[in-house]
Amino acid sequence: MKNEMKLRSGATIQQIDPKKAGEKQYLTRQTLSMMHLMPSGEPVAYDIAPDGHIIYYFDPARVVEAPPENWYFPRARKDTMVLESGTVIERMSVKNAAANGYYTEERLLRMHYEVIEEPVAYTVKSDKTVLYFYDKKTAKRLPLNCVRCGKDIRYKKKLCRACYEEDLAERRAEGDAHRNAYYHMDRKKVLFFDLELTGFYDHDEILSVTIVDATGELIMDTLVRPFKKKKWKNTEKIHGITPEMVTDAPTMEDLIPRIREIFDGAENIIAYGVSTDYSHIKYIYTAEEQETFRGKIRCCANEFVRYAHEHRPDVLHASLTDAMNCFGIEWDGIAHTSTADTISCMKVWEVLFPNYYEN
Ligand SMILES: [Zn+2]
Repeated sequence: MKNEMKLRSGATIQQIDPKKAGEKQYLTRQTLSMMHLMPSGEPVAYDIAPDGHIIYYFDPARVVEAPPENWYFPRARKDTMVLESGTVIERMSVKNAAANGYYTEERLLRMHYEVIEEPVAYTVKSDKTVLYFYDKKTAKRLPLNCVRCGKDIRYKKKLCRACYEEDLAERRAEGDAHRNAYYHMDRKKVLFFDLELTGFYDHDEILSVTIVDATGELIMDTLVRPFKKKKWKNTEKIHGITPEMVTDAPTMEDLIPRIREIFDGAENIIAYGVSTDYSHIKYIYTAEEQETFRGKIRCCANEFVRYAHEHRPDVLHASLTDAMNCFGIEWDGIAHTSTADTISCMKVWEVLFPNYYEN
């Protein structure tokens, strides 16, 4: 049994849901009023809103222009609107909408979101046009455009494929120029060094020092007895230096004059992953001298990372072993001892910089 309502004129109208009203293109008084129209005849159907008030539907063929005093004006109380689907949405200010994560379609598009669901709220502008708000959470994220050409969809590093390739080619050309340049270095004045430590923190101490020049000659290769640390179980597993091995070794204090002498005669001092080594060896210099020392330091790992980015995007890790594998370099001596590491670093450097030394 359908719900019916008898009008004062005697006519009977039926209750229909908003979806059905939408299909029939019936309009409410509120919608007509927003369009500056008013009904010229009786309602043709009705519905009861969730809050209990009656919504009358009118035939759009039977409307006239409304005089300005009947135009729709936003009221201060909380207004709602019924969408074609039957969903009731609330009126709210742009500010409130944004606080809820609701935005207009245009705004969402600028944020690279595409509206796929119906509006969740609306507002009425001063010129009476209705502005719908959509929930950003239910909107679809659009693929972003390339930051260089602005046209194509992003591929890597915020660039489209073509721009990425172009950028990579530029970086590669720059990198190749840097690596293939003639540096005219004296092999005797380019040193490679490696330290083994009790741990990786600043308070940790040096357990061995290895320095090799670019001819492959071992300049220094010694164990070091720490001042404070008595054991280093964690790093012992890595480098194999036990407390017993260093009991008769010289201390850093004994070695500093010789290390300074060696480093002072060098033009470049290179290590693989230089930051930890640098932070432990810099104390052999005063704060002022550290500036000069720092200027001579080169990091082989950083250079390998740059090379890999430019030429070997398939290489994802940049340990010394990764660099050696990449260039087909074999271990000289026992892998991972500081002597073998230092020699390997020297070899990796020579592949990266084929014209580093004078002939
Ligand atoms: Zn592009």
